[in-house]
Amino acid sequence: MNIRSNMLFSEAQKILVGGVNSPVRAFKSVGGSPLFMKKGQGPYLYSEDDQEYIDYVLSWGPMLLGHADPDVTKALLEAVQKGTSFGTPSQLETQLALLVQNFFPSLEKIRFVCSGTEACMSAIRLARGFTQRKLIVKFNGCYHGHADSMLVAAGSGSLTFGHPDSAGVLEEVAQNTLVLDYNDIASLKKLFETKGPQIAGVIIEPVAGNMGVVLPKEGFLQTLRELCTQYNSVLIFDEVMCGLRVHLGGAQALFNITPDLTCLGKVIGGGFSSAAYGGRADIMAFVSPLGHVYQAGTLAGNPIAMTAGIATLTKLKTHGLFEKAIEHTQALTQGMSDRLKRKNLSYVLNSVGTMFSLFFTSHPVSSLAEAKTSDTALFKTYFHHMLNQGIYLAPSQFEANFMSTVHSEKDIQNTLSAFEKAIQ
Ligand SMILES: *Cc1c(COP(=O)(O)O)cnc(C)c1O
Repeated sequence: MNIRSNMLFSEAQKILVGGVNSPVRAFKSVGGSPLFMKKGQGPYLYSEDDQEYIDYVLSWGPMLLGHADPDVTKALLEAVQKGTSFGTPSQLETQLALLVQNFFPSLEKIRFVCSGTEACMSAIRLARGFTQRKLIVKFNGCYHGHADSMLVAAGSGSLTFGHPDSAGVLEEVAQNTLVLDYNDIASLKKLFETKGPQIAGVIIEPVAGNMGVVLPKEGFLQTLRELCTQYNSVLIFDEVMCGLRVHLGGAQALFNITPDLTCLGKVIGGGFSSAAYGGRADIMAFVSPLGHVYQAGTLAGNPIAMTAGIATLTKLKTHGLFEKAIEHTQALTQGMSDRLKRKNLSYVLNSVGTMFSLFFTSHPVSSLAEAKTSDTALFKTYFHHMLNQGIYLAPSQFEANFMSTVHSEKDIQNTLSAFEKAIQ
């Protein structure tokens, strides 16, 4: 099985670092060799060994409409023939910006960039430029791309000052990032009481997806909003993953909380390298060329990425399309829960909108520490049992799984049958 994938991985490892261009693709946390895919169609991926998989990774979130959506593909084919990048403004940027604003009204002004990393990095620089303050607060288990100031882990004991979580990140950079536990309201309040006037901004995944799916507790985001308002710190919602996943208006619509800045990516790129940050007009006015916070991009807002985004967001407005994907997510997670209960297994299934994670722990998961109580060896076994039955799940306990608008009831039934066997 997977003979060609194994061979291609060996070849790739000779020239590409670790054989991949993004670490989690290497299957390190589940073991074995990654599958090489050659085609995606609807909810399915096809491997080099001609196996079909029901895909719940969806390129780590972006492919909400499934692979090779006919409308997106048609728009792209037409766009490509007109040139792929001009390095000038094009009306497509304004069109997509208006669509994005339609879904996320808090984005009074928008800037397109090429990756979620860039969106978060730029939003952080902007928060510092706007407030003339140094400190940024983030939460354990949240991922905001790989900019230096975000590759920071919590210090030991009562220290909240961060230390580098990657070689190459300077101690002095990490020290200006404070790290708190997700959903820890008391520590958040305490931190603002002591350091509030120095805090430039707080960045958070308002629904976390990068430690597996973790929901904010009642009052957590509200408290965060109130503290940021009280201390004039910039509240940044990193909705790169959860925007257009938990709700078409993102977590900010789902929980009715307005951040000062929002980072978007993944789905709004329609499968291309595109992301955005935006928010309050008075803050965004600090970005170049209007203001003195510098940020630029050769391929930012290019016509291909904009076309993919426009086609994707336009289609998402189709009545009932997104709701169906949510219903399918609920049918799948409910089916999984029922089967676990019948076997007397008490695992935790966190799910919201079109995202879900099954944690192999009996402890409720509302923070990274709790997620880490999961049995990762058991996850490994589960993952490979599912994979062997043609179900492609995220290859780590600490990643989210995604539903598309094209997964059918049949796909869900097939997934549940495989699940039943896997949990034997
Ligand atoms: C994926 C992700 C990013 C980084 O986006 P890239 O396009 O991979 O750079 C940032 N924040 C969150 C919440 C993400 O899920």
